[in-house]
Amino acid sequence: MTSIETNIREVRSRIEVVAKKAGKRPDRIMLVAVTKTQSAEMINQALKAGINDFGENKVQEAEKKFSGITEHYTGFHFIGHLQTNKIKSLLKLKPILIHSVDSFHLAMALSSALEGQYIKQYILLQVNTSGEASKHGIEPSQLLRIAQEIAILPRVQIKGLMTIGRLSNNPEDSRQDFKLLKSLAEELTKANIPKLDIKWLSMGMTNDFEIAIEEGANLVRIGSAIFGKRHYTV
Ligand SMILES: *Cc1c(COP(=O)(O)O)cnc(C)c1O
Repeated sequence: MTSIETNIREVRSRIEVVAKKAGKRPDRIMLVAVTKTQSAEMINQALKAGINDFGENKVQEAEKKFSGITEHYTGFHFIGHLQTNKIKSLLKLKPILIHSVDSFHLAMALSSALEGQYIKQYILLQVNTSGEASKHGIEPSQLLRIAQEIAILPRVQIKGLMTIGRLSNNPEDSRQDFKLLKSLAEELTKANIPKLDIKWLSMGMTNDFEIAIEEGANLVRIGSAIFGKRHYTV
């Protein structure tokens, strides 16, 4: 078995253990392998080892790798900060879900870029739950208003919320961020905004995914636990 296969098995079994403990069905939790800085060959290996979904955070890096991806996959997820001038290039890669929509302006640019097409781009709204200045994301107090505005756009469909837990040596510190995202999701659902479908709560990474699942995550984004430490040389 390759080390990637072993790592994927281990991550899946950790997801299963914590989901069962929390009274949740493990098969309802989507594992997105975060492949930023990893080569197309590594992505192929992960897909061969049973990964269906992978995520990248930079449009140009993803574009470069795509021709090298030869194994079948279900979904390409975009999880990084998106600039409007990269939207066209990103849409060509047909992301199944864009996790990082953090303004009405960006959602509107996405919707406009799809004019004349029959598809609806599925998106998540990224929320800055920790309040850290270094993080992108909608401020919690603005979320309801921005979600209402975005829900009216014709060619994007909100499918849930995404957050990144705060930077800390102690993963327990992220719990408050995940709790907040969950409660915001409940608030949005209660608001009964037409066309809103809060299906996904994308939260939890290598260091804090178990805590995220305990707090209601049904999509976890995991890089280093699968591929090892990243080397920022590419
Ligand atoms: C890099 C990244 C991840 C994965 O991080 P790991 O700690 O390696 O699991 C998840 N989400 C986002 C948005 C990322 O940029």
